[in-house]
Amino acid sequence: MTRRGLLLATTLLPFWIKAAEQRVALRGRLRQAEGTKPGIITKDGKAVDVTGDSATVGVLRDVRLKDADFEAMGHFTGPSQFEADPIYKKALFAWSGGKRLMVTYWCEICSIRAWTPGNCQCCQRPMKLDLRDPALEDTDPTN
Ligand SMILES: [Zn+2]
Repeated sequence: MTRRGLLLATTLLPFWIKAAEQRVALRGRLRQAEGTKPGIITKDGKAVDVTGDSATVGVLRDVRLKDADFEAMGHFTGPSQFEADPIYKKALFAWSGGKRLMVTYWCEICSIRAWTPGNCQCCQRPMKLDLRDPALEDTDPTN
């Protein structure tokens, strides 16, 4: 292929094919409107649908995070579609007081941490939302 042909092919690729390869952060207000997919409304007002594995979707639908200043790591699958990284990559954050905090769930009784909302796997009580400094160890008690 000539240099010119290569340049042309690169230019003509839809933007999202290239974007899909890039791991990026998507930040904005977490949208949880009824009847729509969870999404993030960016600072410039763009609505982006956010999907992911079931544990990730569980976090996105957690009403305690509604309208939070939210950040997901992942990649675009379309101009207004974003797929968050799998839950084990710990790709979900909420911003609070200028800090980027990891979204986690904590059972005080059993000292068990989880990454998606639900009942504690041990005592079966609902777990508490615990936004957490990513630098801390998983097993530390809440401070
Ligand atoms: Zn428990």
